[in-house]
Amino acid sequence: MISGKTRIAGIFASPVSHSLSPLMHNTAFQARSIDAIYLAFTVDQTNLKQAVESIRTFNMLGVNLSMPNKIAVIPYLDELSQEAQLIGAVNTIVHRDNRLIGYNTDGMGFMRSVNEAGIAIKDKKVTMLGAGGAAKAIVVQAALDQAKEIVIYKRKNATFASVASTFQKIAEQTGCHITIKDYADTEQLKKDLEDTDLLINGTDMGMGEKKEMVPIDPQLLHPKIAVFDLIYSPRETRFLKEAKAQGCLTRNGLGMLLYQGAIAFELWTGQTMPIEKIQPLLDSKE
Ligand code: NAP
Repeated sequence: MISGKTRIAGIFASPVSHSLSPLMHNTAFQARSIDAIYLAFTVDQTNLKQAVESIRTFNMLGVNLSMPNKIAVIPYLDELSQEAQLIGAVNTIVHRDNRLIGYNTDGMGFMRSVNEAGIAIKDKKVTMLGAGGAAKAIVVQAALDQAKEIVIYKRKNATFASVASTFQKIAEQTGCHITIKDYADTEQLKKDLEDTDLLINGTDMGMGEKKEMVPIDPQLLHPKIAVFDLIYSPRETRFLKEAKAQGCLTRNGLGMLLYQGAIAFELWTGQTMPIEKIQPLLDSKE
């Protein structure tokens, strides 16, 4: 029930109507008897500043941010958490004591799904395929969580040098051993996979028009590697199917989606998200 005290949370993105976050958070507010509602707002560079001001104006709990606002929002915030600073992007704003604090729960959410699969990241070797926004959030969190080594494979195109220098800075700031290598260097990849504990597909190969693509030759996999795909639609990419056939533990991107939301919910309300209620809802939405 909406009351005179109902607080608002939401998502600022464009496009936004496809987002599963309203379903997650409204179900969680209801289950926890929290007098709050979560709405989807179409926000882009044309109205982002006013939208952020409205968090204070309407005393909102906070918001999630998605494309195209995660980086653009930073100048409008009062404070950034450590991981948001390192990633250079914010997916959650918390409105606390009249201050707007930016967090990034994407990497933490992913890491929670890794823990949930029974893997402790500390002292593990991580190989990341792709170096986009999602990959960066995960690499930062893996470094903060003391992974032994992180190897990132990226195409050697116009952005390689600047992306490599960004990851170099993250390595210096976190003290983690991070290297970025040429995606086309299959021999090097083969070597890296020999002692990789966790392999992550951070590219979009496996979804949409790239549905039939696999990010690497699945013959390079072995059962000691846990294979995570950030894609959750389809639920099982061709890559995950082939990795499973090689005897690997596999997980899709639904866990990251679920837990990034769960952590945002904890930051806004101080309560845990009822995962057992939300997970089946997400599973049922293809
Ligand atoms: P992004 O910023 O566009 O990054 C995509 C990365 O994939 C880039 O590094 C790109 O390489 C690489 N790539 C694309 N095609 C490639 C190819 N043919 N060969 C080699 N590398 C290729 O995208 P993003 O936002 O990080 O998203 C990445 C994936 O994560 C998507 O599938 C997205 O749906 C998923 N995702 C999932 C969640 C979740 O909650 N589960 C959250 C966010 C994203 P270049 O750098 O060379 O261009």
